[in-house]
Amino acid sequence: MGKTILLHACCGPCSTSSIERLIEEGYSPVLFYSNDNINSEEEYNKRFDNLKIVAEHYALDAIKDSYDHESWKRDIEGFEGEKEGGERCKRCFMHNLKKANEKMHDLGLGLFTTTLTVSRFKNSKNIFSVGRGFDGFEEIDFKKKNGFEKSVRLSRELGLYRQSYCGCEFSMRDYEKAD
Ligand code: SF4
Repeated sequence: MGKTILLHACCGPCSTSSIERLIEEGYSPVLFYSNDNINSEEEYNKRFDNLKIVAEHYALDAIKDSYDHESWKRDIEGFEGEKEGGERCKRCFMHNLKKANEKMHDLGLGLFTTTLTVSRFKNSKNIFSVGRGFDGFEEIDFKKKNGFEKSVRLSRELGLYRQSYCGCEFSMRDYEKAD
């Protein structure tokens, strides 16, 4: 058994290659789905259903947090109009990583990390700068070692739903504008 680590999982697709990398590096991941940033409960549940497919594939546990979009909106208030990658996103990382850190403590674990670094659209340094504020945070850049490309391939193989926007209503707005 490797070192147990709580893996904050944003969705099924991003979890695939992250789980494989953690296992290769000697960790035993426990998946924690906590993403109040997602714009509706329906989408929240849909992404979790896909994470469950991934968890079953790797024979791992997936813990689902309750959904509280209102508390997330309070945390990003005033920054709604920012472009993706700006201050709104940093606050969003803070919200989710804080909950992951609390869950790590609740479970009596000493380490946690996040799948958020898989995305090509997210600057891992920004995620690390937020994560460093919490004890137990492991700085793992999951997009390295072809993590993103691998997640796309594995998601196809598992037949996963790959969402077309990051998660919040503001990222959906940006996506619709670009479409
Ligand atoms: S774009 Fe993504 S990371 Fe940024 S605030 Fe929205 S959900 Fe969070």
